[in-house]
Amino acid sequence: MRYEGVVYRPPSEAHSLIVQVTIGCSHNGCSFCEMYKEKKFRIRDLKDIIEDLEQAKLTYGIVKKVFLADGDALVLQTSKLKSILSKIREVFTECERVGIYGTPNDILRKSLDELSELKEFGIGIVYLGVESGSNEILKSINKGVTAGEMLMAGQKVKESGIKLSVTLISGIGGKLKAREHAIESAKLISAINPDYLGLLTLMLENGIPLYEDVQKGKFHVLTPKEIMYETKEFLQNVEVTDCVFRSNHASNYIALSGTLPRDKSQLLEAIDYALKGEYRYKQEEYRRI
Ligand code: SF4
Repeated sequence: MRYEGVVYRPPSEAHSLIVQVTIGCSHNGCSFCEMYKEKKFRIRDLKDIIEDLEQAKLTYGIVKKVFLADGDALVLQTSKLKSILSKIREVFTECERVGIYGTPNDILRKSLDELSELKEFGIGIVYLGVESGSNEILKSINKGVTAGEMLMAGQKVKESGIKLSVTLISGIGGKLKAREHAIESAKLISAINPDYLGLLTLMLENGIPLYEDVQKGKFHVLTPKEIMYETKEFLQNVEVTDCVFRSNHASNYIALSGTLPRDKSQLLEAIDYALKGEYRYKQEEYRRI
């Protein structure tokens, strides 16, 4: 396999074969994101991707899951994605699922029929970075879409039958918009009703626009306690029907996991324990939810 630069993938794709079909992110403009700043976006040649898949077969033999990188591989034309997915099926007959990152604009550019076709060709899950349900916050972080467009994109993926995994970023509104972030995100996630929801916590790297705002005193990072209050408010207000919830990324102050709505009260109880400083006694218990 040939890889260019640092390669990112969702935590749940830790055991997948990662195939770079694009390099970088076509948007590459979110003020909090440094993942692809060193890469100039481009689409890789189909010939190279096919060679990589054949090489991976020789190297790894059996592959049950494939993840198509980089940042928004769903930007590829449907016909090209279908050629890649057909090759994956031909080479790895045992492959059970192909995952892919998609921006809201990538999803909205595709028709429902195209998404359904991609599902037939093997796309099993789309990862969508929602970040926040607040229009003001989405604008301030230069996400490039509104909450309404985010909703349409999420609903379209669900309608196609492809599993939808979304992420929010705790603290992305700073101190001034923490409550707005919690409430508006709960509204948007309730409306999308995703299959999976991941909550990351804002981490800022030197050199990105939001970090500069912190240095200039324009953006105020939440304390761990404030993050927990924000998460509590979000969980109290979100209404989904059957959603796997994870907030156990390295960026998170406490590890929470469960299925919503079933485990909502235990998750809220875990946050209350953490706020009282008793979380360490309960952590193992909550990890088992
Ligand atoms: S769309 Fe995703 S990968 Fe691209 S800049 Fe924004 S957060 Fe980063």
